[in-house]
Amino acid sequence: MYLLRNGNNGVAHYWNGVDTVCKMYSTSSMRKKKYKVSETNLGKKICFMCQVNNKKLLKPFVDKEYEQAKEEFVIQLSTM
Ligand SMILES: [Zn+2]
Repeated sequence: MYLLRNGNNGVAHYWNGVDTVCKMYSTSSMRKKKYKVSETNLGKKICFMCQVNNKKLLKPFVDKEYEQAKEEFVIQLSTM
């Protein structure tokens, strides 16, 4: 699940059900009414801190785009 800011701007955060993976939801003054939980990231970029924290999780948040980007990155490296 993702936490998205309402409207067209902003990034998508990974949403674990209680908090964003970057912990911004619980530690900052994110105005909660301005966000919504969504099944998809609606094409928005994933929050950088969410991506960094996601890699440290024992059970990483599974994200198709993230997995795809990672694969592409590996392919790029192997063809260099
Ligand atoms: Zn985030």
